Amino acid sequence: MESPLYDTDLTPNEQRRLATLALDVSGALIKPQPLTTILQECAEALVRHLDAAFARIWTLDETGALLELQASAGCYTHLDGPHSKIAVGQFKIGLIAQERLPHLTNDVLHDPRVSDPAWAEREGMVAFAGYPLLVGEHLVGVVALFTRHPLTEMMRQALAFIANNLALGIDHKRAEEKLRVRNEVVETLNHLGQLLSAELDLQKLVQAVTDAATHLIGAQFGAFFYNVVNKQGESYTLYTLSGVPHAAFAHYPLPRNTDLFGPTFRGEGVIRLADVKKSPRYGNNAPYHGMPADHLPVASYLAVPVIARSGAVLGGLFFGHAQANVFTERHEQLVVGLAAQAAIAMDNAQIYQQAQSAVEQREQFLTVASHELKTPLTTIKGYIDLLLRRAARTGNVPESTLHSYQVLEREVGRLTRLMDMLLDLSRLHAGRLHLEQEPVDLAGLAHRVVTTLQPTLPKHELALEGADQVLLVYGDALRLEQVLQNLAGNAIKYSPEGGRIGISFERTSDRVQMAVSDQGVGIAPADIPHLFEEFYRGDERVTRGIAGLGIGLTVVQHLVEAHGGKIRVTSEVGKGSVFTVELPCLAG
Ligand code: ADP
Repeated sequence: MESPLYDTDLTPNEQRRLATLALDVSGALIKPQPLTTILQECAEALVRHLDAAFARIWTLDETGALLELQASAGCYTHLDGPHSKIAVGQFKIGLIAQERLPHLTNDVLHDPRVSDPAWAEREGMVAFAGYPLLVGEHLVGVVALFTRHPLTEMMRQALAFIANNLALGIDHKRAEEKLRVRNEVVETLNHLGQLLSAELDLQKLVQAVTDAATHLIGAQFGAFFYNVVNKQGESYTLYTLSGVPHAAFAHYPLPRNTDLFGPTFRGEGVIRLADVKKSPRYGNNAPYHGMPADHLPVASYLAVPVIARSGAVLGGLFFGHAQANVFTERHEQLVVGLAAQAAIAMDNAQIYQQAQSAVEQREQFLTVASHELKTPLTTIKGYIDLLLRRAARTGNVPESTLHSYQVLEREVGRLTRLMDMLLDLSRLHAGRLHLEQEPVDLAGLAHRVVTTLQPTLPKHELALEGADQVLLVYGDALRLEQVLQNLAGNAIKYSPEGGRIGISFERTSDRVQMAVSDQGVGIAPADIPHLFEEFYRGDERVTRGIAGLGIGLTVVQHLVEAHGGKIRVTSEVGKGSVFTVELPCLAG
């Protein structure tokens, strides 16, 4: 097609005006502005460069049945009134859309399509030109103008050219807008998906779903009413709101089993209403028979039940808008998708909360049980001490009785250590395992441990190396002694045949290493990564059924790390193990 800009029939002046109009329109069409602003600029350019009385641009709505006035320039600039919405096929504008053909006349007073000749005469209108805005076969709108002078060839050509440009511009802008909305939907859903998979706090989760859904479907407000069960097993309803402050709803009763809300709470399916007030479901129930007088005005209504995997109804998502006809099928699909995601996340949050409360109960039990058991144990220990002292003083207790006392003392000692470990574990869970902070000499500490342990060990030889220097660390002497005792205790326990137990120290400028080695049963490679886990016990075939609770190393690791140190282990089954503790040390 020949470009009108180069038509040689036009005078140079006309060519110039045409070029300026084309430039103004193209310039407007590429601006990053809302479509209505762009179209208004185009209409103004038409009036300005073609001496039109007024020019208007309509776009076709989503249904394809209605033209909506988007821009009006010249002597009429209002966008409301009888021409603001024109059905395709109605009036001259609707006919242009229906026929997809331009309509031009230089005699508006006698044109049968001009519906109000009296108006045309009064206003001095002479010519009319209307063009369908077409992209190929696809209609996107109509542009039209009235002039008080006849249309020239230049204007006809200009309009054909501008109509083409406008159509492409509108189409492009709409595609861009669709893409933007789609991107925003994808982004919001992605973000929400990430959030939901990580969020275990029910309240936050439900709020995020309400906000995202309200935003995505352009609702004026959204609400999520959801059922929760408290610790006493009682069920009650909570809600989150989006788009309106809580105060806006605070004084209403919760939505009840009315004809409108009931089906959602019963999980009976989605309700989408163009105008809730015109629905037969609306206004049937006392006391309000509709919305309370001061309720936010709602016309468009969308309600989607949120149903758990088990089939239980977890709640419902409700959305409203003061305008009618706002929520589309696509919006409904979006919210149904969100409701399904929300249901899964709420299920997960509930499972987590149940697990959490089971953990809390276990912690409580551990603390109470270890305290309760410790008290009588201390009393028993006191009496055994008393009996032993009395026996020593009088000297007339038979050997077998004395032996029983000693067995009792040893077993009570073991029981006390076990209870202490359980207590430590419960303190550790509760974050109440506090450390003293003072300089401690590890070498001195190791000497003390060896001196007390050695006489009780008939089969083992305790060898201390590298402890002939002061090894100062900053920490809790009792807890550090506990670490060494525990590691040495394990070394002895897990080498039932006896052998050498080495406790050796090595120091660098700022670290000290303490290694506890044995020649015992060793540790299966598969167990090594798990040894420090709570209640983890090594392979029975290797440990040969040696008794234990699997707590010692958990506490040891915690204590070492609380001192800024690290613990590691190397071992070979049948040969023995080495536990190495590395701690930051003080100069000296
Ligand atoms: P417990 O000894 O009560 O089982 P610990 O937490 O102290 O608990 O140790 C966890 C596991 O590590 C033990 O069950 C055992 O399998 C293994 N283990 C610990 N120390 C040694 C060691 N010196 N030799 C062999 N196995 C050991």
